[in-house]
Amino acid sequence: MSPENELMSWLRDAHAMEMQAIQILDNQARRIESYPDLRRRILEHLEETRAQADQLERCIERLGTTTSPLKDSAAAFIGTMQALSGLFVGDEVVKGALASYTFEHLEIASYRSLIAAAEEVGDRETARVCSDILRQEEAMAGWLERHLPEVTREYLRRERAGESAKR
Ligand code: MG
Ligand code: FE
Repeated sequence: MSPENELMSWLRDAHAMEMQAIQILDNQARRIESYPDLRRRILEHLEETRAQADQLERCIERLGTTTSPLKDSAAAFIGTMQALSGLFVGDEVVKGALASYTFEHLEIASYRSLIAAAEEVGDRETARVCSDILRQEEAMAGWLERHLPEVTREYLRRERAGESAKR
């Protein structure tokens, strides 16, 4: 495959990844109303993620759509991501935060790779878009890193309160 086609294919993968991220974030935001800070940050990143998907779509269109339509690549990622977005019981808020942290790092790796590929083929606009997105993913990963201990403690406090209420 030519480097341009490789780039195109990786951009499609990234688009599929973001479409999956939208589902995961939307799903999480609905289920964690007792954690307002986490919920607020997830909703904020959900909006960013929708914009990321649109930006990637424009990069793909600019490169030309000679291969299969965009929708087709979405299935490729679902298998991997179902492991991260699957049903959680009880401690789902903690499991979800860990999964999100993992997901953000997958995104960070993907955009670092995409920036290199875009630079390699001289597609400066795609490199710029991917750098912008990369910063948002790093910010989200950093936020989760800082807040994971707090989310975990809050979960344990709630569990303990629930346990004593049962007695
Ligand atoms: Mg993203
Ligand atoms: Fe993200």
